[in-house]
Amino acid sequence: MVAGCTTYIVNVQSTRECQVLVVGGGLVGLTTALVLRHHGVDVTLVEKRATTSPQPKARRFHVRSMEIFRELGLAETVREAARDLAEHDRMAVGRTLVEARQLPLRHPTGSAGEPIEISPELPCLVAQDVLEPVLRQAAQDAGACVRFRTELTSFAQDADGVRAELHDHRTGRSSQLRASFAVAADGARSPVRSALGIDRSGRGAVGGPNVNVYFHADLSDVVRGREFNLCQLEHPAAPGALASVDGRFRWVFMASGGEVERDWPALLRTVLGVPAPDLEVRSVLPWRPEMLVADRYSDGRVHLAGDAAHVMPPFAALGANTGIADAHNLGWKLAAVLSGEAAPALLDSYDAERRPAGWFAADQSSRRQLDVTAEPDPTLADPFVLAAGGYQYPAGAFADGPVEVEPVTEFAPAGRIATRIPHRWLDPGLSTLDIAGPGWALAVSDDPRRWAANDLPVHRLDADFLAPGEALLIRPDDVIAWRGTDPTAPAEVREKLLAG
Ligand SMILES: Cc1cc2nc3c(=O)[nH]c(=O)nc-3n(C[C@H](O)[C@H](O)[C@H](O)COP(=O)(O)OP(=O)(O)OC[C@H]3O[C@@H](n4cnc5c(N)ncnc54)[C@H](O)[C@@H]3O)c2cc1C
Repeated sequence: MVAGCTTYIVNVQSTRECQVLVVGGGLVGLTTALVLRHHGVDVTLVEKRATTSPQPKARRFHVRSMEIFRELGLAETVREAARDLAEHDRMAVGRTLVEARQLPLRHPTGSAGEPIEISPELPCLVAQDVLEPVLRQAAQDAGACVRFRTELTSFAQDADGVRAELHDHRTGRSSQLRASFAVAADGARSPVRSALGIDRSGRGAVGGPNVNVYFHADLSDVVRGREFNLCQLEHPAAPGALASVDGRFRWVFMASGGEVERDWPALLRTVLGVPAPDLEVRSVLPWRPEMLVADRYSDGRVHLAGDAAHVMPPFAALGANTGIADAHNLGWKLAAVLSGEAAPALLDSYDAERRPAGWFAADQSSRRQLDVTAEPDPTLADPFVLAAGGYQYPAGAFADGPVEVEPVTEFAPAGRIATRIPHRWLDPGLSTLDIAGPGWALAVSDDPRRWAANDLPVHRLDADFLAPGEALLIRPDDVIAWRGTDPTAPAEVREKLLAG
């Protein structure tokens, strides 16, 4: 398998070639490259910046993203990088930081209020500027060609592939790269989306302007014993929320109102309630919550992922998490088409599945506010449904026929078609989420030998939601493609889905 930057095929016109070009080296582009390498795809990633994100931005990675990192063999590495915030999952509130108290942690519960385990992984709090270098290194180690300081300046596509013009800011040279497919993970302003003429729809701005003040101050003594993810500070001088970036020295204060030019050191000392003599403001970034989703996720051989496809307010921590799920969905489909296992029509299911999922996440996010004291709104999706990626695809690559609808206002996964397989332990350390990816798998409730003719890994699952004799066909991205009792059906269904 061709992999890494040094093993390019160079043809007579000096055009480099790869199977998939990923544009953008943020969280989503890097995850896309990792998923593609996991499936053995030759991938080149270009990122115009010299470094990964200098801003902490996203910090909360839900269990679904951790499950994807688990499949990629990265969950432990990510958790190790996240160790500074390991005990910071609670919320807090107070007039000032010194007066703040921790709020109780919410745990997932079943219908009778009993605690339940929703995933083999726990959520993870890790700042984006810590996580991105981990993913970048992992992508390189996995054999992706990762080229920072390299900008996509233009592209064109034809029936056979995408021809990209790249500019290397380090050498000042331009070059061409030919790829079978391209993934635009080039962020909210996505030059690729604009070049394709893809519009966005949605509520647009969904709240007033805000500023994020990123600062350094040693507050470890102040927060010790009251560690938090977010602390809502209600001081009238500058109400806002304080986010732990490393829980000791690095912090982001999010204040409403778009005023950048304020005496932030003085205001911060007031809302912290301590002199903090070493306090140093690193940046003040204005931003506005927006809800916008691309009208098409795919155009020929080019597919949008992450913020290029959807932007949403950060109040449900879904922006990056939704993008990581895009990468997981798209990766196996591109790999199946590139290997000839699937027809190109399989890729139509990327838009059919992930665009409604992007709408759902953006809609849910834009109907929430940043208020850590608010009780969950029963008309909105259960936060654990959002965390577990429990969105049921309305159309896509799964079996036809009547589909039982998965509720969203309560966490009640039941192995329904077009949803993520619910987590159950099959053996110590082996979850139902571990049996598919990079390949397909079967989870069966009876004798595995009855299903052997399907030529797929078969796992016996003793679960409350499976009737005797029933089985689930699970796609490489853990989505249930079929459910039934006919032992000859899974292979046929899979073949039909791969044919598009
Ligand atoms: C304050 C804040 C808090 C947030 N908290 C959370 C959270 O807790 N959880 C969560 O899931 N999400 C959160 N988000 C959202 C999250 O940060 C974004 O959804 C995520 O960073 C998007 O990643 P991306 O890779 O799609 O885009 P980006 O991170 O924007 O990356 C796109 C990259 O493409 C590059 N690029 C653009 N054009 C080109 C080109 N022509 N050639 C080469 N490279 C190019 C850019 O330089 C950039 O590096 C938060 C956002 C903010 C602002």
